[in-house]
Amino acid sequence: MLPLPVLRKAAAEMLNYGKSGMSVMEMSHRSSDYQEIIDAAEASLRKLMNIPDNYKVLFLQGGASTQFAAVPLNLLSGSGRADYVITGQFSKKAYSEAQKYGDIAVAASSAGANFSFVPKIEKTAIRPDADYVHVCFNNTIYGTKFPEIPDTGNIPLVADISSCILSEPIDVSRFGLLYAGAQKNVSMAGLTIVIVREDLVGHAKDITPSMLDYKLAVENGSMYNTPPCYAIYIAKLVFDWIEALGGLEAIAKMNREKAALLYDYLDSQSYYTAPVEPGSRSMMNVTFVTGSKELDAKFAAEAAAAGLKNLKGHRSVGGMRASIYNAMPREGVEKLVEFMKKFAEENPKEEN
Ligand SMILES: *Cc1c(COP(=O)(O)O)cnc(C)c1O
Repeated sequence: MLPLPVLRKAAAEMLNYGKSGMSVMEMSHRSSDYQEIIDAAEASLRKLMNIPDNYKVLFLQGGASTQFAAVPLNLLSGSGRADYVITGQFSKKAYSEAQKYGDIAVAASSAGANFSFVPKIEKTAIRPDADYVHVCFNNTIYGTKFPEIPDTGNIPLVADISSCILSEPIDVSRFGLLYAGAQKNVSMAGLTIVIVREDLVGHAKDITPSMLDYKLAVENGSMYNTPPCYAIYIAKLVFDWIEALGGLEAIAKMNREKAALLYDYLDSQSYYTAPVEPGSRSMMNVTFVTGSKELDAKFAAEAAAAGLKNLKGHRSVGGMRASIYNAMPREGVEKLVEFMKKFAEENPKEEN
């Protein structure tokens, strides 16, 4: 979802942005009107996330999946080694992609438990000369999240925060690099945000495509080529919306309350099961199952018919997944819980 006020504002400005006489979609990215938009977007994001001055903010393309390659290409500049924590599909993909460029090892994994928790990273599992450690902070498909930021000492920590960016305050200074596809919690598809510590920029491998070289992106103010102009504009509107709500502390409080509505209900009954261990629960993606494939399918279909869309779990795990990103209002979660109660009453399971 995008916040309704954001969609309304975009609609109102669709034909004529400010005094420009044109839509943001039609602007040259080199125009002063557009420069103001991208500058304001960066300033708002820096303020919201409290991004330290020694970090660069990049507005790129290619989705989080392109960063699966860009990260190793730019950061494997010392030993050529990096350690990955495997907590689901996206971290697995990041790990496979990185293997093309260096000596990549698994520092921890919860694959054996169908990714139902986030594993603890033992200090001894990280190679002391690793160039970085990679984690996927919120696992969108499985509904898990790191309960705290792992301590990797002096080794830069890199995190995919595609599905939790801007959901709560996060201490950027604990990371070497953060990246996120914008389409989950920030904007529309097409924009990828990278927040990278200055000293990690400028060491890309010779084979790095120019489009993936952070140094070129920094030097060109995210405009080495045409950036995803409209997606950056929508992101700016979303940043303004969060700011007006009171910033990340305020949005985190709302998100905690929304997630608690669902988890408290799940914990209070036995019709549905939440497969994720309580200590690893995501605030953004809540997964649950009935224990029957037929009932799961019936649930998703009837929920969609009742206006509760996109509840079918990812094709790789089945069951249900409620993605309750920032823009999902509390009423949406309340409606879902009501629907879950009604469905359980109307579809008793056979005792066996
Ligand atoms: C959705 C998602 C991705 C994939 O993002 P694209 O922008 O489609 O490449 C990667 N990582 C996480 C955590 C995601 O939620």
